[in-house]
Amino acid sequence: MSHRLNKLREKLEEKGLDAILISQGENRRYLSGFTGSAGFLLISEKSTILATDFRYAEQAKSQAPDFVVVQIEGELPRWFPNLISTLRVKKIGFESSDLSFSTYRKLVAIMGEKSEKELVPTEEFVESLRAVKDEEELELIIRAVEISDTVFEEVAPRIHPGMTEKELAWEIEKLLREKGSESVPFDIIVASGPNSALPHHKPTDRAILSAEPVVIDMGARFKGYSSDLSRTICLGNQDEKFGKIYDLVLSALLTAIATIEAGMAGVQADSLARKVIEQGGCGENFGHGLGHGIGLAAHEQPRLGRGSEDVLAEGMVFTIEPGIYIKGWGGVRIEDVVVLEKGKVKLLSKARKVD
Ligand code: ZN
Repeated sequence: MSHRLNKLREKLEEKGLDAILISQGENRRYLSGFTGSAGFLLISEKSTILATDFRYAEQAKSQAPDFVVVQIEGELPRWFPNLISTLRVKKIGFESSDLSFSTYRKLVAIMGEKSEKELVPTEEFVESLRAVKDEEELELIIRAVEISDTVFEEVAPRIHPGMTEKELAWEIEKLLREKGSESVPFDIIVASGPNSALPHHKPTDRAILSAEPVVIDMGARFKGYSSDLSRTICLGNQDEKFGKIYDLVLSALLTAIATIEAGMAGVQADSLARKVIEQGGCGENFGHGLGHGIGLAAHEQPRLGRGSEDVLAEGMVFTIEPGIYIKGWGGVRIEDVVVLEKGKVKLLSKARKVD
């Protein structure tokens, strides 16, 4: 973890902060290795403190050997002012998208407006470090990707007309767990027929029929790291429309894989695939972004989509997932996980895309 802490400290200096309080769960895990569900990190140039309660104190000591574990009780405003008074720091960053406004207000009230210590809101401070994966992280993501690939390959031949969306989603969930996934990172999507026109449909008791699109979107989690895989299948005869829409989405995906490069902004990457779908006459039916970073969170930086200025860099891992959704008919989405290596896209997902 020490190279991650070094990067964090460089960033503290860059931003003129003396310390930072980390409360967001995945950021806490990323920097410390501690997997418990409650606790805070307080990191300055010289101190590396992990504050957690009685339930986790022992676990924290063994999982986060780089940190001094401090046992705390009660809410942040009860213990933080004392702890911070022992450190010679003035400007203390906090994660403004995680710490609640009421906690912030209480803290400011306790520390006093005239306090020489100042709480400074930060945004995406650790998230931006997390976007670029180190070797260890990439390996874990590859394991998660392999699990979901294997599950898709195993479940695909078992899907038959009459099986309900919920039955299929449960089959997938069981297989994911059997193949070594931790609890799944997000609810599995099985969307059949007209339901597949909804990108985030929840599985229902609808029976899957032949000759209609079925969108399957699932992920595995391995040692905290997620995968994300979408495939669209059609049982029995594919009609001409399915073939046409499927080919268009596939060619958008393949174009993105072949042409996305390090240095591009998220919006540029998105437009490479979007143009293909627009030229095929379905621009209005691709209503979401092209992809998202993936790691400890199933959705994280960078974002590939309209308006995204996130710059794609070497070592970033993200999804590419174009889709076309047609109300009343259904939809097609195909999603792979990739990593940027030597400036180019390297495909990590191996599950079949074409029968
Ligand atoms: Zn996704």
